[in-house]
Amino acid sequence: MQTVTRLDMLRNAVEALRTDGSTLALVPTMGALHEGHLTLVREAKQRTDHVAVSIFVNPTQFGPNEDLAAYPRQLAEDSALLEAEGVALLWAPTVEAMYPAGFASSISVAGVSEGFCGASRPGHFDGVATVVCKLFNQVRPDIACFGEKDWQQLAVIRRMARDLDLVAPAAGAIVGVPTVREADGLAMSSRNRYLSPTQRRQATVLPSAMRKAVAELEAGEDAADATEALEAALLAGGFDSVDYAALADAASLASLDRLGDSPARLLVAARIGGTRLIDNMAVG
Ligand code: AMP
Repeated sequence: MQTVTRLDMLRNAVEALRTDGSTLALVPTMGALHEGHLTLVREAKQRTDHVAVSIFVNPTQFGPNEDLAAYPRQLAEDSALLEAEGVALLWAPTVEAMYPAGFASSISVAGVSEGFCGASRPGHFDGVATVVCKLFNQVRPDIACFGEKDWQQLAVIRRMARDLDLVAPAAGAIVGVPTVREADGLAMSSRNRYLSPTQRRQATVLPSAMRKAVAELEAGEDAADATEALEAALLAGGFDSVDYAALADAASLASLDRLGDSPARLLVAARIGGTRLIDNMAVG
């Protein structure tokens, strides 16, 4: 595996991988890798000849009072994990390489960016869209893999890739990979390590209460009733607040009053101590 930290090195490395017409996948991450990230890498490996992984803790997607400084950084450990997965290229740029002095551009994806995490984290998806657009232009992959764990992010990136003709135009160039969970159901996340042992135990109420709500919604219950019961279960189970718990159209993310004919998603963000956890599940 080659590790590159400057754009000129990246371009040379990509060119070398591409010389024989090989296909290339990109897996963008912020590091602190776990089985969820490695599942994306394995999915990418199934689909292309080579895999490039980026590790970049992107400052522009963190709000002023969020965990940018505290976000775990462990490049040596991550690098060993990626090497063992047979990753060809690790792109680990510095903040200065990504955002040179005078950087002034931003990509904003209307509609799908606006509710849910977009409402509770103003500017977050502009930061995500801008950095992912840069990563696509830097690496020029055939496909890119993202986790369904960040369902709204996946919808934002799909919209942007379509709108701005990024990556290969073929349908399916943006690959969504199902959420990888711990044995007790909690979605894997780099932020789970912020939880104390007690909070970690309490956090299991998130997937269990969501599964219950999914069953209620599928039985025809109103979204308002099911999500109200879900919020109450989270607060009773140890969560301190709920940013949102909602039923939405899986593609447009428009809020739904109840399950209809098209695929829907239950989306939740809730805080336990200082940690904000998100999760989502298919409904119907
Ligand atoms: P992050 O490092 O948190 O920015 O995540 C990098 C990529 O890994 C994103 O596409 C995430 O959606 C994906 N990801 C994170 N956690 C999981 C998980 N538990 N299962 C599947 N994909 C995940």
